[in-house]
Amino acid sequence: DRLIEPDKKGNEDVIDRAIRPKLLSDYRGQPHVKEQMEIFIEAARSREEALDHLLIFGPPGLGKTTLANIVANELDVNIKTTSGPVLEKAGDLAAMLTNLEENDVLFIDEIHRLSPHVEEILYPAMEDYQLDIMIGEGPAARSIKLDLPPFTLVGATTRAGSLTSPLRDRFGIVQRLEFYSVEDLSNIVMRSADFLSLEMDEEGAIEVARRARGTPRIANRLLRRVRDYAEVKADGVVTAAVAGSALDMVDVDKSGFDYMDRKYLLCLIEKFMGGPVGLDNIAAAIGEERETIEDVIEPYLIQQGFIQRTPRGRIAQEFAYKHFGFPIKE
Ligand code: ADP
Repeated sequence: DRLIEPDKKGNEDVIDRAIRPKLLSDYRGQPHVKEQMEIFIEAARSREEALDHLLIFGPPGLGKTTLANIVANELDVNIKTTSGPVLEKAGDLAAMLTNLEENDVLFIDEIHRLSPHVEEILYPAMEDYQLDIMIGEGPAARSIKLDLPPFTLVGATTRAGSLTSPLRDRFGIVQRLEFYSVEDLSNIVMRSADFLSLEMDEEGAIEVARRARGTPRIANRLLRRVRDYAEVKADGVVTAAVAGSALDMVDVDKSGFDYMDRKYLLCLIEKFMGGPVGLDNIAAAIGEERETIEDVIEPYLIQQGFIQRTPRGRIAQEFAYKHFGFPIKE
């Protein structure tokens, strides 16, 4: 398991839920998203209408689920949560839809993984608040139509490109989350430390933030490891030095890379002479799945300028050579 894996892990849910901000004003960073959502939420509230359907996209751990919950909370409505792969049959979605109350939020995580026949149910539901479903099989099969209360669908996806266009077109609001700055992340870390009653100075928070790959979920996870270390080795107080030693110990380096990132970069530089090289070749060389590489490893490396994704393949950039102290390829 990677400590810096941004995907969810079950046993962290309890602390995560406690730390998770509940109000838009506690949601750090993402100024454009916040500014817009504040207005849209306020308008929907004052008209007492359901908010337009909202699509949130961005890499794992950046706060999509958190934002969905904040939206429902700020609108003062219920939120029902599910995810694309969980909704196997049309009936699964129908059951969720018919359980909604007026103006409620239905949150579908990983919405790009909905199966086509489930997705088809969603179109009339989103557009006209109509449920249009076949029940029974063979000659006894018939279609029934039900009116649904107005509701807001909030969809989250790590891959905007994988959404079918009829689905994408039905979202009135589309928000894209960006990686967080070190400053925003250190604010998040400070707030979480408060929740955990952990004593930490600003430099300590910055050290954790620097190694968190622009991702709040990773920042909070690193903080928990730092807390363990501080309690055992440093009287429970987190300074930059304590945070640094703790994270070195768990093998998260100064750029927030772990062995997977280093393996990826070293493979690109040493085996493939810095590229360009196709994704399939890298995947085979490091024994990792394409999807994991594209969704989890590469986005941060690209955003930080360590690699470039080109039509001819991946290319290592100057930063990547510098990171390992290699001479830079001409
Ligand atoms: P996603 O759904 O995009 O994978 P989550 O919404 O589950 O990510 O966020 C992971 C964790 O990071 C949350 O539990 C929350 O504690 C924290 N977090 C995310 N976004 C923010 C934010 N803008 N401000 C403060 N904490 C955040």
